[in-house]
Amino acid sequence: MKKRPSAQILCVGTELLLGNVLDTNSHTVSVGLAELGINLYYRKTVGDNLDRLVFSIREAIDTSDILVLSGGLGSTVDDLTLEAVGKAMDIPLEYHTPTLEKIEAYYRRKGVVMTENNKKQALLPKGAIVLENRQGMAPGTITEKDGKLIIALPGPPRELGPMFREDVMPYLAKRYGASVIASRMVRFWGLAESAMDERVKDLTSLEAPTVAPYAKNGESMLRVSARGESEEECLAQIEPVVEEIRRRLGDYFWTDFEDSFEEALVHELRASGKKISFAESCTGGLCAKRVTDVSGASSVIDMSVVTYAASAKQRLVGVRGETVEKFGVISAECAEEMARGIRELSGADIGVSVTGLAGPTSDEGKPVGLVFVGVSTEKKTYTKRYFFPYENDRAHVRLLASSACLAEALFTLRGKE
Ligand code: AMP
Ligand code: MG
Repeated sequence: MKKRPSAQILCVGTELLLGNVLDTNSHTVSVGLAELGINLYYRKTVGDNLDRLVFSIREAIDTSDILVLSGGLGSTVDDLTLEAVGKAMDIPLEYHTPTLEKIEAYYRRKGVVMTENNKKQALLPKGAIVLENRQGMAPGTITEKDGKLIIALPGPPRELGPMFREDVMPYLAKRYGASVIASRMVRFWGLAESAMDERVKDLTSLEAPTVAPYAKNGESMLRVSARGESEEECLAQIEPVVEEIRRRLGDYFWTDFEDSFEEALVHELRASGKKISFAESCTGGLCAKRVTDVSGASSVIDMSVVTYAASAKQRLVGVRGETVEKFGVISAECAEEMARGIRELSGADIGVSVTGLAGPTSDEGKPVGLVFVGVSTEKKTYTKRYFFPYENDRAHVRLLASSACLAEALFTLRGKE
């Protein structure tokens, strides 16, 4: 494949440096460039200062083929982007008549006298390709010099977004040829990122496809990505590597397709015609909520209960008083009885229970983050102990505990447990 061009994003705006406005435009542009197979090497933000802006533009052009500028195209004195482009690239600015007319017509329609500074938005680099702003006033421009491209886009995300996707991306695709990036995320549960890394070290050093590790919310993931002329060409590189990863880490694998445990679980329950039911304590109904978030959940879940107090655990899902007294409610024994109890109560194929300490205060002399999950089917009932050491983050412990339930249910359904 042809050598791909390199790009840099330069955001302009003191408000971004002060943290008053979150830079979302870099993300929009990054995603689009990746889709086009254009290598983004740098992202930078500079304030509304002419000298620093000129310096940053020159620096970007020295190191990249394409510079995407965001912001600073308005009519006020701090909008300096095009003036800086002119200075840095030694290109004169001139009034762009259609833009000038658009601005004048706008003020005429409003019946307001146009102030002189409004004309500034029509002062564009000579010879630039002008991108009409359908959401606002300041147009975008593509200026070329010595084979380098400078693309200046308006700052408001609702203007930059459509302009980038509808005008800039087709232009770049035509100019550089589209290349495709495809990727698959292979996701695991119960596998620490470092352990995962250790077992796929040789794969993460591959040049093509690339294999990159991630970890989030208790999950470990490997993103396998390839670049090619077509989706098929990419997948041909990706699939053998995904297979190899699954061969090595199959015990922990849960999906390379679905976006969430709940989706995977609902789909696989539906496919096997089975039902699930939860008895939840520390998650307060989060498991049931996540499952019922998925459309089509009604065919896999009839009911669930939240048994928060020990008395509720006893009354509703048959936890024995003796168990509570002897082991406490945060125990494998309690989780086991809850799982069996909810399966019997609901008539579901899989009963799942969870009991633990979300914090911030500990109880029963047990540490915050200690969670027991129980899973019961007709064939067997088992429990698993989890420990999520996030003492001061109740919501996170609850989220991880609910993921543990969904993952255990999924593994049980697949006959792994
Ligand atoms: P400007 O074109 O610099 O006058 O910016 C116009 C508006 O767009 C302002 O409200 C900015 O806060 C906003 N804006 C500028 N740059 C960005 C960016 N990178 N991400 C999100 N919003 C931005
Ligand atoms: Mg600005």
